[in-house]
Amino acid sequence: MSESDHATAPFHRLDTPVHDIPLIGRRRADLLLRLDIRTVADLIKHLPHRYERHLGRSAIAQLPFDQIATARGLVTHSRWVPGRQFRMGQRGQTGRFQAQLRDDTGVLDLVFFNAAWLRDKLHPGTEISVTGKVVRYNDGRQMVNPQLQVHNQPDDTPEPPSPPASPASSAAPDPLDAADRYRPVYPATEDLPSVQIERLIAHLLPAALPLIEDHFDPAFRQSRNLPELRQAYAMLHDPADEDQVLLARRRLAYDELLQLQLAFAAKRKHTRTELRAPALRWSDAIDAHIRQRFPFELTSDQRHVTLELARDLQQTIPMNRLLQGDVGSGKTVVALYAMLMAVAAGKQACLLAPTELLAEQHHASISRMLAGSTVRIGLLTGSITGPPRTALLHRIDTGQIDLVIGTHAILTQSVQFADLAVSIVDEQHRFGVVQRATIKSKAGDARTVPHTLVMTATPIPRTLSLTIFGDLDVSLISHLPPGRQPIVTRVVESDKSVEVYNWVAQRIAAGEQAYIVVPAIDENDPAIKAVTSHIKQLEAGPLQGKRIAGLHGKLKTITRERIMDRFHRGEIDVLVATTVIEVGVDVPNASIMVVEHAERFGLAQLHQLRGRVGRGSRKSYCVFIADPSTDDAQARMKAIAATTDGFAIAEADWAIRGMGEMLGLRQSGLPPFKVADLTQHMDLLQLARRDAQEIIEADPKLSDPSHDLLRKRLLKTYGQAIGLADVA
Ligand code: ADP
Ligand code: MG
Repeated sequence: MSESDHATAPFHRLDTPVHDIPLIGRRRADLLLRLDIRTVADLIKHLPHRYERHLGRSAIAQLPFDQIATARGLVTHSRWVPGRQFRMGQRGQTGRFQAQLRDDTGVLDLVFFNAAWLRDKLHPGTEISVTGKVVRYNDGRQMVNPQLQVHNQPDDTPEPPSPPASPASSAAPDPLDAADRYRPVYPATEDLPSVQIERLIAHLLPAALPLIEDHFDPAFRQSRNLPELRQAYAMLHDPADEDQVLLARRRLAYDELLQLQLAFAAKRKHTRTELRAPALRWSDAIDAHIRQRFPFELTSDQRHVTLELARDLQQTIPMNRLLQGDVGSGKTVVALYAMLMAVAAGKQACLLAPTELLAEQHHASISRMLAGSTVRIGLLTGSITGPPRTALLHRIDTGQIDLVIGTHAILTQSVQFADLAVSIVDEQHRFGVVQRATIKSKAGDARTVPHTLVMTATPIPRTLSLTIFGDLDVSLISHLPPGRQPIVTRVVESDKSVEVYNWVAQRIAAGEQAYIVVPAIDENDPAIKAVTSHIKQLEAGPLQGKRIAGLHGKLKTITRERIMDRFHRGEIDVLVATTVIEVGVDVPNASIMVVEHAERFGLAQLHQLRGRVGRGSRKSYCVFIADPSTDDAQARMKAIAATTDGFAIAEADWAIRGMGEMLGLRQSGLPPFKVADLTQHMDLLQLARRDAQEIIEADPKLSDPSHDLLRKRLLKTYGQAIGLADVA
């Protein structure tokens, strides 16, 4: 690189495509694309995922043990040692590539596992640098899988085409040569290793930093002890020490959290001030009339929530409420209460479930509770097609159906309600946090929306749920209905399964019913239990003569309904099912749950599955058959055996999996946090929430010129994800 290249900035805007920067070169720009890096800004936002203390370059004889350092020299020997089990068709080859590196002072052993491609690259005579941890080996020094940089080939084969001003060229200061640094390690690919990204960023950062504008003024930053944005990026890419990294990450984490909270606050403000919902009337008579339909007294928790709902539904401010309650806590009747308030007002309600099976179950149980009443109920799932579907849609459209129970996917598309007042989403965690149904109703104008209740069994600490579900009010059912007996849980290894099934046979003989959950419907691998094959085995063996049926998502609706109905009436003893039964299925008489290959399921899933039993007054048992081989799986088995308390499970799950995943943030359709980590940044989250509320209260649409940059960035991040575009 020449002096003049340094003098004139290689770009003047952060949105300059990496392809337009000669310094990067076409080949590397293509490689950057694979990391989703299109522009200079993307490159600057490509953050190290860890750092290594690096001692700089050293003569081989002086390389310190057990530290990361760099050595440069000539390859002397090299050879490929194939692995023993060479499997055909496998991509790449197993084995190891061994080489020796020599400089004036000594010899370093190099081992690269499964790196057959090095055969064409590292010949004796090649000059290379390697960076890695130095370990003692046969009285010598060794590096295993070090980072590698090839300087020249012995036979003068030109390097793959790279631009003349390549930062990898020797004239440029090479970060590898710097002594005793805290070095960034970037997410990388095989063709574009972290060192190369490090060099690129080191070269472009000086020109990029002055272009980074902060959306906060200095006073705001200072009062919150946050560094300036460009300073944060400088510290993340080239930190002096660990404290700088933490400080810089705090800044970016705050930005992410504030954006989400701003989005929630703006949306909430918009809903409350610009939209309205039908106000539903309510009286003691209506209340009594609804409750008389329920086959039991409401618990005090349930009663409390129905009163909260009744209060909301009488308003024209659209209800936006989250109902949290552990598996089996009795959320369904509470939802039904709200739906029946809509019906009492001559309007419609709908209930959305994440699976067809659950929609069918809700339809069946609600139909039972409302038998003999005038309420008209429709079931709408993807399996209902053709003329019946058309007829049903027509009846919904013309108000001839009061309650629609269905799957979520269907209702987002073509359904039009005559006069929808209440919309309920069951098992919200299965849909993700923020995704909400968009349901059309003809009544009122474009600003009229139904009241919404979302229900979830994922127990989240209250402070956290307030912040995560920022735009929702939260209701809670914390106690189970009376008369429940604790579920007895056992975790056993698969060599005990004969005993387990003999015991199941005895319980069935005593009049109980069982679920057996397996991970697959059909399976070629005989080591994996699947519905069809497992039924055959059980029928031929321990459960001979018992009435067994299979249940899974591929069955026709009518078949599935018949099976569930017969199971309900006790005409089937054992249901061998996939995880379709995971959510919502409610058969109080079933008191035995056996889960095969339990190590394959997540903790929340195991808790949900176990929640299928223990719903009646009978003592219930849950047996997890598992051969956990990983630490994670063992931790899950331990946690599920230790408690039936959903909160404790959630906390363990949080510890094992991380918060974002547990809350379904991944599948929520929201852009994921890159830096914020709720296990670490809880204080920032609270701060961001308060700040966001204050900002939106003062400037609901962020239309003040001082908020220009903030608004632009917010729209870019969340505009599509939560429909903010309608708001601002
Ligand atoms: P979940 O919260 O998991 O959706 P459900 O609504 O399916 O729970 O209720 C679980 C079981 O508890 C059902 O069989 C339901 O009939 C029963 N149930 C709910 N509320 C009560 C109550 N107040 N008294 C007795 N049983 C109840
Ligand atoms: Mg439920």
